[in-house]
Amino acid sequence: MSASFFEEVLMTLDNANRHLNLPQGIFQRLRLPRRSLIVSVPVQMDNGGVEFFTGYRVQYDFARGPAKGGIRYHPRVTLDEITALAALMTWKCAVVDIPFGGAKGGVACDTTIMSRDEIKRLTRRYTYEIGILIGPEIDIPAPDMYTDEQVMAWMMDTYSMMKGYSVPGVVTGKPICLGGSLGRNRATSSGLVTTVIEALKVLNMSIDNLTVSVLGFGKVGFHAAKILYDLGAKVIGVADSKGAIYNPQGLNIDEVAKHKSQFDSVQGYKEAENLTVDELLSIESDVLIPAALEAQIHKGNVDKIKTKIVAEGANNPVTIEADEVLNSKGVFMLPGVLANAGGVVVSYFEWVQDLQRFFWNEQEIDDRLNTIMRRAFKEVLAISQEKKIDMRTAATVLGVKRVAEAVTIRGLYP
Ligand code: NAD
Repeated sequence: MSASFFEEVLMTLDNANRHLNLPQGIFQRLRLPRRSLIVSVPVQMDNGGVEFFTGYRVQYDFARGPAKGGIRYHPRVTLDEITALAALMTWKCAVVDIPFGGAKGGVACDTTIMSRDEIKRLTRRYTYEIGILIGPEIDIPAPDMYTDEQVMAWMMDTYSMMKGYSVPGVVTGKPICLGGSLGRNRATSSGLVTTVIEALKVLNMSIDNLTVSVLGFGKVGFHAAKILYDLGAKVIGVADSKGAIYNPQGLNIDEVAKHKSQFDSVQGYKEAENLTVDELLSIESDVLIPAALEAQIHKGNVDKIKTKIVAEGANNPVTIEADEVLNSKGVFMLPGVLANAGGVVVSYFEWVQDLQRFFWNEQEIDDRLNTIMRRAFKEVLAISQEKKIDMRTAATVLGVKRVAEAVTIRGLYP
């Protein structure tokens, strides 16, 4: 039986600890989530009936500051998955050195068969149920798969109604008119591209005519494809949940986006060949960006992959076994705890702006984001080179070391 997602995250933590040798008590502390809440979410459906959904919020660790992490709506959401993602958020916030702990939340539901009103009622009741755990000083949710800025607006409104006044800082990834930050919608992808550019420098490669494949064409995948396309790279393949498209001459990403908004899939775009997601994975490219679900690249399909750089837009889209294979082939791995941290960095900027009621311009946000992402990349690369370890273990060493320092210096209560 293959390892669960959380077991995979713990294996990476174990690997990192071989280089950290943390005291037993601290290490055990970091192998367990601090708080896990499971809620039942009754929702009045459009047909008049009531359905019950299961929701979760896990605060993995908050030694370094309030817990932070997205909300996922997906049929496959489980406590194991949310715990794994909350742990990764903990290391990720520490890798980029922002003063947050890690959390994650989600509801097991299929939004593709729900109306907007049903999603609104689900969001409001879920927010109410986890309302005992969230708040701008405690735990700040954000969007993740199948949640967007409208869902954040409903969450902010519900929490504010519970309090009796407006609390913009309770969530990030909000619409700009409610205290959202400029640049947040493309922040994850922009940070990811910064790490790809740094990797290109290490490999002596150029962005001109760089061939790129992107799995997932949502918030992260679309913006990553678009930024790279605008920088002169050739995006030769993209995929969404319905399938993939491929054009060796490069896709016009603006046109693909128009097609997707019209037909709800990238498939059928006239200037490309339709492929399955697995077929796209076997097409040679310089950079592969998995930006959909976890574990999409596994021991069953890793041998097909022919790429020089894998930049993880999603969290752990490459399993540990597949990661070992890619590392042994000399593929430059950009793990999600580093590569997709741009989203939480600009979420941090949004939270700071909300608390101060003072907003920054886009240039300030882009510059600060770039500085943080470049610094984190260099720190992870230095650990990888110094200890002769792969980039995922190196990033985990950096993140876990910072969390462990905070846990240690705070001491054990009481
Ligand atoms: P999203 O809902 O906006 O987009 C998800 C995309 O993945 C959609 O295009 C969907 O069609 C596609 N998809 C789903 N299943 C697929 C499959 N089996 N094969 C190929 N494509 C598939 O979600 P998002 O916000 O872009 O998040 C994508 C990933 O990035 C998630 O793993 C998320 O945890 C991670 N992430 C997101 C952010 C963020 O700021 N949104 C930050 C860090 C990490």
